[in-house]
Amino acid sequence: MNCFQHAPVAAVGLCKNCQRGICLECLTDLGDGLACRNRCEQKVQALNTLLNRSPGVYSAAGSGYRIVGAMLLAVAAMSLLAGATDAQAKGWLNGSVLAGLAFAFFGVLFFRLARRYR
Ligand SMILES: [Zn+2]
Ligand SMILES: [Zn+2]
Repeated sequence: MNCFQHAPVAAVGLCKNCQRGICLECLTDLGDGLACRNRCEQKVQALNTLLNRSPGVYSAAGSGYRIVGAMLLAVAAMSLLAGATDAQAKGWLNGSVLAGLAFAFFGVLFFRLARRYR
């Protein structure tokens, strides 16, 4: 493959933005990839910033799941407490206990989701 700006010159790499072959004279090495000098530099730089930032986005999603999970477990604890109070009158399989178990189940589910983002 040859440089897309200098047809007779062999390309030494691909621009990260436009995927075209570029020769030594036309490329700019941005550390995380090559770019066409004065043409795609800014776009590749923006692309690199975006890629470097995505782990942060993931951990933010993870902590979001963890917060929801903690809230669900708190609601579960309250429901189970209410259920324990009702247990003497209605037995252990009352609505509050069942709701508490359901909340606990989803709370654990969200914590498992959060772990996937670590
Ligand atoms: Zn380019
Ligand atoms: Zn060139």
